[in-house]
Amino acid sequence: MAKSYDVVVIGAGPGGMTAALYASRANLSVAMVDRGIYGGQMNNTAAIENYPGFKSIMGPDLAQQMYDSSVNFGAEYVYGSVESVEDKGEVKLVKTDSDELEAKVVIIATGSEYKKLGIPGEHEYGGKGVSYCAVCDGAFFRHKNVVVVGGGDSAIEEASYLAGIVDHVTVIHRRDQLRAQKVLQDRAFENDKIDFVWNSNVTEVLGDGKKVTAVKVVNNQTNETSELETSGVFIYVGLLPMTEPFANLKITNEDGWIKTNDQMETAVPGIYAIGDVRQKELRQITTAVGDGGIAGQQAFKYVEALSSKGQTEAAR
Ligand SMILES: Cc1cc2nc3c(=O)[nH]c(=O)nc-3n(C[C@H](O)[C@H](O)[C@H](O)COP(=O)(O)OP(=O)(O)OC[C@H]3O[C@@H](n4cnc5c(N)ncnc54)[C@H](O)[C@@H]3O)c2cc1C
Repeated sequence: MAKSYDVVVIGAGPGGMTAALYASRANLSVAMVDRGIYGGQMNNTAAIENYPGFKSIMGPDLAQQMYDSSVNFGAEYVYGSVESVEDKGEVKLVKTDSDELEAKVVIIATGSEYKKLGIPGEHEYGGKGVSYCAVCDGAFFRHKNVVVVGGGDSAIEEASYLAGIVDHVTVIHRRDQLRAQKVLQDRAFENDKIDFVWNSNVTEVLGDGKKVTAVKVVNNQTNETSELETSGVFIYVGLLPMTEPFANLKITNEDGWIKTNDQMETAVPGIYAIGDVRQKELRQITTAVGDGGIAGQQAFKYVEALSSKGQTEAAR
């Protein structure tokens, strides 16, 4: 039989952990399901310098502190990959790869994952020089040269982090200027271990069969092709929403991000979405945490309304 909760939170990143904290502190029974270790994308982040209360903190350390808060009022962490959510009116059925959970409220906090470049060699050399996580893999490239692909916040932040470990970082960006925040740009431009290749696309990852040796680069203005020798390729070219298990609910926009109002409500009553998985402007830890607080509080109001409706019907 499915185990029953007031609230099932799907995803234990900063958004999900905050929602679990608020809902359990309001005395609701809460399960927080994740297919990996709690912390979400914070586990892939080096120094976080824009989360109030900490001048600088390592992502995994902040993840641990948030987790400790999130289970402090009784929320349960459940390991599992959610495969579907069925809306049965006042009850929602959450199916994981190994379990079934029932809930009055479901809060979707599944975030996003890195986009792949989809070029030859990228898959073949995954874990052999191609990486999407500088914190996880940077140390393997000590005293080596690496390439970072991308020009947004993540790319530039991680390029600066890598520059503290490796000999040299080349950032390859398809435009002639970066999209990253000014403070991150300034830091990277001032770092003499980082240089930039502009208006260029990486079209192939080359290797000797065992490890990456170079990337093929095409200048998108001149069509000139070159090869750049490198031991590592760190790819940060955007994000994909993790919304496949919720396709049946029809709550996403055409790009797959979940649409909500300011109260984090989706089009399905009792189903909320928070954090990076939402259609929104700024995807950050602070915004995920803010969304989580709102959804946790809304869950309390929703469950209270359901129970007073039940009491009214019973009294008739
Ligand atoms: C390299 C990098 C650096 C960053 N640096 C910063 C920074 O310095 N400051 C900042 O504020 N933000 C930073 N960010 C962004 C920040 O990490 C995200 O905005 C934030 O983590 C989003 O939180 P979230 O809870 O919405 O989702 P996530 O952190 O993505 O967590 C989602 C969770 O859901 C789980 N999940 C997904 N699908 C399923 C499923 N089907 N079943 C079960 N579990 C599932 C995942 O395993 C994951 O644990 C960075 C991001 C990256 C990638």
